[in-house]
Amino acid sequence: MYEAKKLGRNNCQFFRPEMQARVLEWQSLEGSLRCALERNEFMLMYQPKIALETGEISGVEALLRWKHPERGLIQPLKFVPIAEESGLIVPIGRWVLLEACRQARAWIDAGLPPMRIAVNVSALQFAAKDFLSSVRAALISTGIDPSNLELELTETVLMQDAESAVQTLRALKDIGVQLAVDDFGVGYSSFSYLRKFPLDALKVDRSFINDISSNADNAMILSALINIGKSLKHRVVAEGVETEEQLHFLQQEGCSEGQGYFFCRPVIAEKFAEFLERGVTESAVH
Ligand code: C2E
Ligand code: CA
Ligand code: CA
Repeated sequence: MYEAKKLGRNNCQFFRPEMQARVLEWQSLEGSLRCALERNEFMLMYQPKIALETGEISGVEALLRWKHPERGLIQPLKFVPIAEESGLIVPIGRWVLLEACRQARAWIDAGLPPMRIAVNVSALQFAAKDFLSSVRAALISTGIDPSNLELELTETVLMQDAESAVQTLRALKDIGVQLAVDDFGVGYSSFSYLRKFPLDALKVDRSFINDISSNADNAMILSALINIGKSLKHRVVAEGVETEEQLHFLQQEGCSEGQGYFFCRPVIAEKFAEFLERGVTESAVH
């Protein structure tokens, strides 16, 4: 069923023996995922976003990791789809939101400058009835300024039910949080909705930054995507910046922020605090 679902709607797939192993792996992970929250097995890593004009840290993204008791650290691409399919992403997402705000508060309490912290929000979480109240609760209980919290939503999340997404986004804007479209360019955004959504930032998907040097078409698309963001008056963030060449291209095109291994990999909270303390410059973050 999952194989067929992956290929879109109205699809059928015949069962193949090798699927059995994947089904078992999935079930085993789903089973242990059910207890992971209460066992305190999740942690967040933090990856800075860099202002491309100044080289300063302009924000940070919280990225979820699972410290599995037997398998070690598991990356989100391995377990977030399972959490989404089983509905567990709703309580897990609530934990991420609160933990990210709690960490942002801890950095402020340690005397570090307030930082805009971004959290990834999945479709189910965004559609959940208590989503707005969980955002409010996280902000109130930690005393984080709403404008220092950014929610990253993929195009798919927003376009699934665009009309009700507009309502939810407006309510979030009333709270005062920042809103960003994640993986911009790979989904199927309707431009009329992009205009209607009260967004603050577009994060151009990594795939467009990847091979700009060898693929002229991609360089052209990247430049077009940056210009869409600029004309909508949004901040434009390029994700997956890995080389100096990519950085220069982005600077030339007037992209405001970048994120990627060239600047810094996702790091634990203590390490990120060190970067903040040093007032990181581009070279210091490597
Ligand atoms: P994303 O939101 O697009 O996050 C960016 C991913 O790209 C991260 O992978 C990050 O480590 C990786 N990355 C950053 N810079 C580079 C680079 O220069 N090169 C390459 N090749 N990769 C780079 P990660 O942490 O494994 O997360 C993968 C995805 O899992 C995220 O993609 C996001 O969709 C999802 N995810 C992570 N944390 C959460 C969460 O708390 N909640 C939800 N719902 N999803 C999450
Ligand atoms: Ca993201
Ligand atoms: Ca992304």
